[in-house]
Amino acid sequence: MSSSSHSYQFDVLVVGAGAAGLYTSLCLPSRFRVGLLTKDELLTSASEWAQGGIAAPMAADDSPELHIEDTLRAGAGLCDRQAVALMVQQAPDCIRDLLSMGVLFDRHGADLAMTLEAAHSRRRVLHAADTTGRAVVSVLAEQVLQRSNIHVMSRSFALDLWLTAAGDRCLGVVAMIEGQLCRLAAGAVVLATGGGGQVFAQTTNPALSTGDGVAMAWRGGAVLRDLEFVQFHPTALTKPGAPRFLVSEAVRGEGAHLIDDHGRRFVFDYHPQGELAPRDVVSRAIFSYLQSHHPDPAHGHVWLDLRPIAPETIQRRFPNIVQVCRRWGIDVFQAPVPVAPAAHYWMGGVLTDLRSQTSMAGLYAVGETSSTGVHGANRLASNSLLECLVFGAQLKHLALPENWTAAIAPSVRASESSPDVSLSGAIADWESQYVTLQTIRQNLPPLVWQAAGICREKQLLEGAIAQIQEWRLKFSDLPLSQLLSRCPLHLETPISSDKLGLDPSQVRAWGETRNLLDVAYLLVKSAAFRTESRGGHYRSDYPHPNDRDWQAHTLVQSERWWKLPVESP
Ligand SMILES: Cc1cc2nc3c(=O)[nH]c(=O)nc-3n(C[C@H](O)[C@H](O)[C@H](O)COP(=O)(O)OP(=O)(O)OC[C@H]3O[C@@H](n4cnc5c(N)ncnc54)[C@H](O)[C@@H]3O)c2cc1C
Repeated sequence: MSSSSHSYQFDVLVVGAGAAGLYTSLCLPSRFRVGLLTKDELLTSASEWAQGGIAAPMAADDSPELHIEDTLRAGAGLCDRQAVALMVQQAPDCIRDLLSMGVLFDRHGADLAMTLEAAHSRRRVLHAADTTGRAVVSVLAEQVLQRSNIHVMSRSFALDLWLTAAGDRCLGVVAMIEGQLCRLAAGAVVLATGGGGQVFAQTTNPALSTGDGVAMAWRGGAVLRDLEFVQFHPTALTKPGAPRFLVSEAVRGEGAHLIDDHGRRFVFDYHPQGELAPRDVVSRAIFSYLQSHHPDPAHGHVWLDLRPIAPETIQRRFPNIVQVCRRWGIDVFQAPVPVAPAAHYWMGGVLTDLRSQTSMAGLYAVGETSSTGVHGANRLASNSLLECLVFGAQLKHLALPENWTAAIAPSVRASESSPDVSLSGAIADWESQYVTLQTIRQNLPPLVWQAAGICREKQLLEGAIAQIQEWRLKFSDLPLSQLLSRCPLHLETPISSDKLGLDPSQVRAWGETRNLLDVAYLLVKSAAFRTESRGGHYRSDYPHPNDRDWQAHTLVQSERWWKLPVESP
């Protein structure tokens, strides 16, 4: 890392160290000095939590065409066929790369073991027991730590993009690094910050999934796409006091049944494929079932019965699920698991092309933060880790403009005439400002869950937008917000957190709350904009797909929402 009075400088900055950020860093040409930021430790991410596996058309009875067709079908008319073809065709190369690095996928004899997941027509999901994500990211992290061109900055929080004065090129990010609020300059910035599940009260995502990359890109003026599409996973553990631990789809692929209190497989009432129907169908089936059969649907659950699976298969394939359920008092060999749907995967994100480039010069996005077009309105299970790899690998083609360092100098000079930051007023009453942050943080996710969860309708969406706007105004009036949101103008030299009078964790709490408010606003507004139902977006007031008006993407830039019709994929 080279540093100057105004910033640290890298050739490429990768923000996020899940599967997307780690693999991107490894694929970038090794001549580049790469800065890799993560807001926790290197091994803490949604990727690390992934259970089921990675899809790739590598079995003898499978083909890229079949995998492409399954992906397009799940995407409900909104996939980008070129992006899907790229992902599927490059899947075997990425898997071979992981194998050569030492990722230990399960095998049957010498062959890679493949399981079946919902809406796949073949067994094509590679796995490492039920901790596939851990098996992948631990190897990727080891490789990253061995690379002398990659500088890891753990416990570092990116607050915003740093742009040219004209706002037309990304020059780096503003971040809290090692207790210093500073600008990090780079020839290219890659956002790999994962999803935004924490905006919902019920989610399978880890605490770090606060939509930071999407919010930063939006504030910077990049184009976002299809933010209303959220996949709700049907089977999250639902026990008072327990986190919404995900009970993988692979469990149903291996033969587990979803049953009601009377042991009836009720999902067949809603879809002929029963438990193996697409996720949105199964989630809605549970939601509808609870609405009509449970006295308190919001807190109800149905049951996932693993007993139809041979006990030795359960033990071999799902040791982590067995262990976590046992911790919460459930013996999966003897009794069914209480489950209900929870927000799981965000199909929408920052619009990118086949090279992972966003609409803004110098800015790229990879992984759940991006919208590459491979998921359309609904993700096919186990395609997301694959997307992280394939679209991360596209960064191997990255070429930086020759004069990129020259772009930084005028930007710094232009800001040198900015008034001094007055720190004292902003921080003096941190306690009361913190109460405001906490109040928003507690009340926002239940509001978004109620208005933009599995079932949406106009009145609730509009009420939620008004409330979120009120909170956004309140938030931006905080003295701390006045200071921190104007930081890029004032950071010729780093400011230490001591001088700010703030702990780095307080800066993160402020930044995450701002991002959650922004993504809540964007997601709920996009859900109100799309007056039809499709994939991961269900409107009870428009319960059917409307191909004539809505076989279209929702695009958002600043305060402008518009639709872009898609050719039939
Ligand atoms: C429980 C669970 C099970 C899943 N199972 C599967 C599965 O079996 N197969 C599959 O394909 N998909 C699965 N998924 C989905 C998949 O895991 C994710 O879509 C994927 O891992 C996202 O990877 P990512 O690299 O984009 O983001 P993440 O893995 O979430 O990583 C995000 C990174 O960004 C960093 N970051 C975020 N904001 C900032 C900031 N402001 N500053 C600095 N750093 C920041 C974080 O610290 C972290 O390092 C699962 C998801 C969950 C939650």
